[in-house]
Amino acid sequence: MKRSTPKTRSKNSGGEAERSIPQELPEREPGGWREIQEKIAASSGLAFLLVEGHQPPALTVSNNNSICQAIQSSPEHVKLCDPFCGEAHARAITAGTITHYRCHAGLQCFAMPIEIDSARGLAVIGGRAFVRSSDYRELVERVRSGDLQAVFSNEFFQNVIFADEADLDHAALRISSAARDFTQTARPGTAQPAIESEKPVATIESDSFDEPITESRPAETATAFSLAESIRKFAEQIDATDPARTYESIVARSADLVGAERGSLLLFDEAANRLTMTAARGIPVLVADVGPIAVGEGIAGAVMRENRPLVATVDELGRISPAERRYKTKSFISYPITIGERRFGVLNLADKIGGGAYDIHDLSIIDVVAPQIALALERAEWQQRANQFQLMSITDPLTGLHNRRYLEARLAEELSRSKRYNYPLSFMMIDIDDFKLYNDRNGHQAGDRALEITAQCLRAMLRKVDVASRYGGEEFSILLPQTSLEEAGVIADRIRRKIMTTPFPHGKTQPIGSVSVSIGLSTFSATLDSAEAIVRAADRALYHAKHHGKNRAYAYQGAQPGSAAAT
Ligand code: GH3
Ligand code: MG
Ligand code: MG
Repeated sequence: MKRSTPKTRSKNSGGEAERSIPQELPEREPGGWREIQEKIAASSGLAFLLVEGHQPPALTVSNNNSICQAIQSSPEHVKLCDPFCGEAHARAITAGTITHYRCHAGLQCFAMPIEIDSARGLAVIGGRAFVRSSDYRELVERVRSGDLQAVFSNEFFQNVIFADEADLDHAALRISSAARDFTQTARPGTAQPAIESEKPVATIESDSFDEPITESRPAETATAFSLAESIRKFAEQIDATDPARTYESIVARSADLVGAERGSLLLFDEAANRLTMTAARGIPVLVADVGPIAVGEGIAGAVMRENRPLVATVDELGRISPAERRYKTKSFISYPITIGERRFGVLNLADKIGGGAYDIHDLSIIDVVAPQIALALERAEWQQRANQFQLMSITDPLTGLHNRRYLEARLAEELSRSKRYNYPLSFMMIDIDDFKLYNDRNGHQAGDRALEITAQCLRAMLRKVDVASRYGGEEFSILLPQTSLEEAGVIADRIRRKIMTTPFPHGKTQPIGSVSVSIGLSTFSATLDSAEAIVRAADRALYHAKHHGKNRAYAYQGAQPGSAAAT
């Protein structure tokens, strides 16, 4: 049977150090007990806590459910757990026997008195596992939009425990049997705080705790165990590096879970009310070639509209859409990914490896991972928006050139490179001549168009390394890395001539019969060694170019700007 190793947890792990509530008091635990508890936790996949009173803190925490870890570490949220795990010790001791409870988070737990140190009245809390997928969904919903939003962190879903109730009973038996052995093996006085006993007294020599105490574990439980393991790892295995990878790994991991050769993810576009295929595995067409599917259309469309998963064979359904016809076998799962009112899309899985049909069991597996998929999709959506926003925030929407913010950042970066390697660096400020006139005579829209054409001219004249930006209004700037002032002068004059000879729609209305620009140039030197100084110098050169008749390029050369090129 596959065994898992529990995640290593720091002693007081859970959120921000200063504000979080300690979960463990290892200095109070009976020496030698930790190894036993950890071993049972590792092989059962459940969480265990040795407690001597109200919890948190426990004495020993093994394989804690990351959800409990997060909630109980938060001073604002721990009170939710108080009536359950908080009071579990008291209830177990009062009852004198095992008590089962389902906590506010929907986790199945037990609390059981154990006699490893009779003077102290210790108990073990065990389980902390979801036994029903609906409980898990509810919890995810609370995290997404309910009272648990504030406790969510990257670690929140790191170690979610799923099990069935039989697993809890089995584990409770193993704990009580281990406690009995522990008491018998322990020498008098060993049940002391660990700091007083150098070595644990009761150690596990063999794998005896891996063996079931009652009759051998049924085969289905073994399958359920490794399945619980895969489900637990599901979220971890979704690659969140970027949205595209998230989509692909959702399809791949879900297909692995139910042994599907083919799978696809269709994302819901709320504005258009349709689904778009975003990632696929095993389908012999390009994702981009699959057209959008309207909500209500075909199987996936119907599944989205009804918000109800479907396990079926194509024959049962009759009509199918072209995309769905690509499935080799007839059995498939089509699952709507939603949380509350939010609709993310549809996950399709088909072609069961080995050719069998999907059933309600496969569906229940997807039931359990669906909230994790929804969360991953939500994260990807944010990532996508952030990327777009980043792009928007450095791009001028009218001309598509970079904006001033980007220019300033790049200039600083290029400048430090020039200083480090002693590379030349030149800079141009370009201003359209008599643009106010152009606007006044031809209207603002024509002015906008002229700005676009100017940007196109700049793009056409520049090398890949040059950085053209719209500095503001009708002013553009060009950053020319590794370019001397002489070279920049040549480029400037090419630009100037290009603009003058380009037919603008109303070019003839300008004073010289065509649209023209004036250009100021500057270059990095010992005296012009800051971004501000370089920009200011180019500005001054531009000012002189305007004053000397426009439609010309001037370079800033020390105190006196000189002409680099003129008509
Ligand atoms: P000069 O030759 O000295 O540069 O004269 P100018 O008229 O070009 O300069 P001025 O600074 O007097 O006017 C600039 C004009 O550019 C005024 C403004 O309406 C226009 N402008 C600035 N941004 C935009 C824009 O985004 N679209 C349009 N259509 N016009 C703009
Ligand atoms: Mg201007
Ligand atoms: Mg101008």
